[in-house]
Amino acid sequence: MSKNTPKAIRGTQDIFGAEAEAFAFVVETFERVRKLYRFRRTEMPVFERTEVFSRAIGETTDVVSKEMYSFEDRGGDSLTLRPEFTAGIARAFLTNGWQQHAPLKIGTHGPLFRYERPQKGRYRQFHQIDAEIIGAAEPQADVELLCMADQLLEELGIEGVTLHLNTLGDADSRDQWRAALITYFKAVEGQLSEDSQERLEKNPLRILDSKDRRDQQFLADAPRIDDFLTEDAQTFFKAVTDGLDAAGVKWKRAESLVRGLDYYRHTAFEFIPDEGSAAADALGAQSTVLGGGRYDGLMESLGGPATPAVGWAAGIERLAMLVGDKHEPDADVIVVVEDDERIGDAIAAIGRVRAAGLTAELAASGSTRKRFDKAVKSGAKSILALDICDGAPVHRIKASDADTARIEALLN
Ligand code: ATP
Ligand code: MG
Repeated sequence: MSKNTPKAIRGTQDIFGAEAEAFAFVVETFERVRKLYRFRRTEMPVFERTEVFSRAIGETTDVVSKEMYSFEDRGGDSLTLRPEFTAGIARAFLTNGWQQHAPLKIGTHGPLFRYERPQKGRYRQFHQIDAEIIGAAEPQADVELLCMADQLLEELGIEGVTLHLNTLGDADSRDQWRAALITYFKAVEGQLSEDSQERLEKNPLRILDSKDRRDQQFLADAPRIDDFLTEDAQTFFKAVTDGLDAAGVKWKRAESLVRGLDYYRHTAFEFIPDEGSAAADALGAQSTVLGGGRYDGLMESLGGPATPAVGWAAGIERLAMLVGDKHEPDADVIVVVEDDERIGDAIAAIGRVRAAGLTAELAASGSTRKRFDKAVKSGAKSILALDICDGAPVHRIKASDADTARIEALLN
């Protein structure tokens, strides 16, 4: 590489080989599970007006205040590369009149952008799979989404990851809890981290998931949401946990799980590797693989009607790390052109092989010996060689009896 060659942007990845196979496996599995649960598919713009995110996610959140890629376009509009899917989907729901489809079960996947400190499992361009149910107030929607997430992890073969579940209560419970947290943390304000001092009034819930030691010493005795839950909020949460129990989804109560974004109400959850598990080792410090919750207040923040909704998103890179490297599969058939006279026949033959659903590769360049070397090294299950012998076309097949018969049939 010359000094002149531009470098990739910090925090982006060029995913290739076994890692790219693992990435594709995650996406393919998500697509399969999405269909099992009958979630519809959407493709969303990669950028939106900045206010879509600042209003929906909340000005005081890390994502909006520190992590967004915002810029002015040539027309002078402030645009932002999406840092998450939910806000854009909510915008689309409102601007396209998707209310008519409510309750709308919808899923998507693609790249997202956050200006973060890059490290293992944390990038500036990363990818998520995302599932949302919009226009459903019932706890059964939360249960369905959580079952879907659980089944996805199961089908990916990921073990040692547990659902951590919390309720943030309804607006009333949350407001009271918030006020109690402010009073509690105010008393020790001077001893908190700078970040927490700053978010004390604006977003005190966030102090609960602070990783700073100065904050952590006060967390055990902080006011607990359970003491503020209204009866409605308790009933709602019980319906969610009863549903999970009925479905056989294992979960663990996580009282201080609040999630980073302002819009959550009631259910909030994360799937986190168990301490000491292989999954925890693989992920290092970036432990959460999938997170989400109920965001009943979000549509209103975008000027829409009150619309209950619940959703989750999972990092594809982090899931791919847990899935492990996946080998690029060997071809079913490799077609070797021994005599260049047979190139046309080879092209026709490989076309039939692929049309029959077998994966196939052509070896037609370099010396005959090189072509055979390539065929053997490729690990292909079957080799079909096309040659001319005494002026007549011949072919040879090196394969199991069943495969030989199958390929013979395709040639006739
Ligand atoms: P974290 O606490 O790790 O920063 P978060 O709460 O900001 O996560 P969400 O906004 O809930 O993350 O996104 C859901 C999932 O997307 C995360 O659980 C994680 O798997 C993935 N994710 C989030 N940010 C990144 C990133 N910068 N790089 C890779 N994956 C990410
Ligand atoms: Mg984050």
